[in-house]
Amino acid sequence: MAALLKRLLRADPRAVALGHSVGCREASLGPDPGATVRVRFAPSPTGFLHLGGLRTALYNYIFAKKHQGSFILRLEDTDQSRLVPRAAENIEDMLEWAGIPPDESPRRGGPAGPYIQSQRLALYAQASDALLKSGAAYPCFCSPQRLELLKKEALRNRQTPRYDNRCRNLSQAQVAQKLAMDPKPAIRFRLEEAAPAFQDLVYGWTQHEVASVEGDPVILKSDGFPTYHLACVVDDHHMNISHVLRGSEWLVSTSKHLLLYQALGWQPPQFAHLPLLLNRDGSKLSKRQKDIFLEHFAAAGFLPEALLDIITNCGSGFAENQMGRTLPELITQFDLTRITCHSALLDLEKLPEFNRLHLQRLVSNETQRPQLVEKLQTLVKEAFGNQLQDKDVLDPAYLERIILLRQGHISRLQDLLSPVYSYLWTRPAVHRSQLGIDSEKVDVIVKRLLGLLGRSGLNLTQDVVNRELKKLSEGLEDTKYSSVMKLLRMTLSGQLQGPPVAEMMVSLGPKEVQERIQKVLSSQGENT
Ligand code: GLU
Repeated sequence: MAALLKRLLRADPRAVALGHSVGCREASLGPDPGATVRVRFAPSPTGFLHLGGLRTALYNYIFAKKHQGSFILRLEDTDQSRLVPRAAENIEDMLEWAGIPPDESPRRGGPAGPYIQSQRLALYAQASDALLKSGAAYPCFCSPQRLELLKKEALRNRQTPRYDNRCRNLSQAQVAQKLAMDPKPAIRFRLEEAAPAFQDLVYGWTQHEVASVEGDPVILKSDGFPTYHLACVVDDHHMNISHVLRGSEWLVSTSKHLLLYQALGWQPPQFAHLPLLLNRDGSKLSKRQKDIFLEHFAAAGFLPEALLDIITNCGSGFAENQMGRTLPELITQFDLTRITCHSALLDLEKLPEFNRLHLQRLVSNETQRPQLVEKLQTLVKEAFGNQLQDKDVLDPAYLERIILLRQGHISRLQDLLSPVYSYLWTRPAVHRSQLGIDSEKVDVIVKRLLGLLGRSGLNLTQDVVNRELKKLSEGLEDTKYSSVMKLLRMTLSGQLQGPPVAEMMVSLGPKEVQERIQKVLSSQGENT
């Protein structure tokens, strides 16, 4: 850079004009037929992936897939002081977990790589040199102390701090003199007065007169790292990005980006800014809320499908507001022209309900059910370890039976680990005095019950059990059906609440039911 600056000093810094300006492409709502769609998700690895990021990634993913395009992950790590360890891995891991893997990324590679900005410094230097050459950029020698003073003064006067463009009009001699002292100055972009207007695909015609509100921005720092604005424009250009779908917080920066495109003589992509994703009460999603990180949802047993569904459900981009959409359905039904400018309010209290729907759908899918069984097996092992009544409860057939019986009632597999379901994994300690029925009656009921369970060829379904239990209690004098049920519920689970008794019996199976009954009977005479 220093060599280039010296060479430029021999010419009038403003004399080399690129000679052509580029206006914003006439935006049509959606890609031109036949044009290749390439979109990118460009997070900074300054934190783990959260719901706001997932939403931006998801809209990019569905837009790409809808138009047979490519979805690219680019990590914007130019502010090295803010990097968070493991964030880069987490972002890519979580996109994979969510089922929206990038086609090109740091991990997967691809034709436009590298996909990490810190590995593309030469490209930014090249663009900065081109801007210096054309006079669209200039070196800035202002010290951090001077910039800090400017800032403080502005704040004291209740003004927005902005650079006063002091180095904009340095003479060649001044530049030469300063370069001798400071060979690595920052490079600033000379903001033109008239920022191009552009048609945002969501917000419509937009223009921000950046030059009247901002000082000339630094595009390349003295350490050779670019700032966001330059890096983003250079990468979107070199990566052939056709559409930029990003958060609306970047809408005001877009005019600046268009000025950069114009100065570099490049065709800009189309822009679609996505309205903010807010909490239900309208507050901003904050990184301090631990329940916005994808890792948290994954660990808590929420399904990626439910997250994708709730995130699109609270936003716009679809003709109808419906729950339970799968990713292929989201892709088919998505319509960019239906994205409105209203913020999307996310009601996480509804997430369990979304999860329940998606869990039920997975349970009913025979190819996906074995994964749920395996997951439940791991969860049970982790939660109960050596408290397990015996290894039979880890039998996939047993676990599958439980999942099938409880589908639609539970939101997450983790729910099955709550105390109300502990009877599924451990035998309860129940004494016959807790059964609420006279001891002699207990003997009669139990005798009949054991007779029923011992009947050969009995197919223990809920209907059969219900019918038999009705018959059984009808034959008992002055013992109500409800008392028989209570006795059974207590015997089997040690609790007064839970799923229907018939379901408990079917899930446990006749052998285990018999054993639990015998256990209560043998508690006769013991103290509770
Ligand atoms: N690195 C920026 C962010 O994390 C990306 C903005 C953009 O998509 O242009 O929000």
